[in-house]
Amino acid sequence: MSTLQNRQFKLTSRPVGMVKRSDFEFVTTLAAEPGPGEALVKVLYLSLDPAMRGWMNAGRSYIAPVGLGDVMRAGGIGRVAASNDPSLAVGDTVVGMTNVQDYAIVKAKEVTKVDPRLAPLPRFLGALGMPGLTAYFGLLDIGQPKEGETVVVSAAAGAVGAVVGQIAKIKGCRAIGIAGGADKCSYVVEELGFDAAIDYKNEDVRAGLAQHCPKGIDIYFDNVGGEILDTVLSMLARRARVIICGAISQYNNMESMQGPRNYMSLLINHALMEGFVVFDYLARYPEGLQALAGWTIAGKLKAREHIVEGLETFPETLQMLFRGENAGKLVIKV
Ligand code: NAP
Repeated sequence: MSTLQNRQFKLTSRPVGMVKRSDFEFVTTLAAEPGPGEALVKVLYLSLDPAMRGWMNAGRSYIAPVGLGDVMRAGGIGRVAASNDPSLAVGDTVVGMTNVQDYAIVKAKEVTKVDPRLAPLPRFLGALGMPGLTAYFGLLDIGQPKEGETVVVSAAAGAVGAVVGQIAKIKGCRAIGIAGGADKCSYVVEELGFDAAIDYKNEDVRAGLAQHCPKGIDIYFDNVGGEILDTVLSMLARRARVIICGAISQYNNMESMQGPRNYMSLLINHALMEGFVVFDYLARYPEGLQALAGWTIAGKLKAREHIVEGLETFPETLQMLFRGENAGKLVIKV
């Protein structure tokens, strides 16, 4: 029996609106021993994702809800502390669903081994991980960007949005970001090379889009939904592609979700709107990761992570995503 202390956040009630500490129980147990085909992983960094809010709700989605009493689901990166599978050795660095705890029992075939010399560990949870892959497959597979087209992305300074705009530039498109605050807007233009950014908290989004997208919007990569989606829909170019990646402005909305009012713009402009989930592309992850790593090494893909210290901060750290308080991919250093 292990003597390793394992702190865990268990979901104990379904949040109403914003997630809060009282929705969880913070417990300490002893780490379990890995069974056949399993490994014990010491979690080093936890990935905080907007989707976690949806996983806490009951009801049908693309993945089963986290059960009441279960350890909260989360991605993470960690080091193998004990292994009961020949494919993993003690000391290997792995990415996978570790959940919100110090030690995770994982199935060897459900985690990915990464080379920790390639990048700082949190990057494997951001631009070189699930959010980077989301940008890659969403933009390239659904958006089909062509040179000279105008790509608009919301939550542009965040984990997914920052990669979307940079891939758009790599593909020869114009990239326009929408983000909250002057600092985030100057980050995406000055550091990431977007052509322009609109501060939706302090500027008129419609006027900004009219200025920066005079021929209309060819591709909109939507991370936020709500008002911004409506505004963009009214400014589409002919044969535009609207990629529904997320709708963070609606995730805490317990009333009816604000849907697009301007959807007739799809008809008028012969446009397409399509949603996707990154897990659909599991079989093609190696292709995506190779491209993202190549661009990173070539200096064409930059990223930043927002690191908060301490597993115990989990509920309050998760709230930061919904207040726009994260500057880059949000992770907890466990
Ligand atoms: P992120 O952008 O790093 O962080 C979330 C950002 O959302 C915040 O920093 C904030 O930026 C913005 N935001 C929060 N509340 C908002 C509101 N009411 N209106 C407008 N913007 C708001 O997070 P991420 O991990 O990259 O995720 C971005 C989106 O992609 C989310 O919708 C997420 O659910 C989605 N996603 C989808 C998939 C998929 O498979 N489909 C996979 C991963 C992520 P500002 O300061 O700029 O407001």
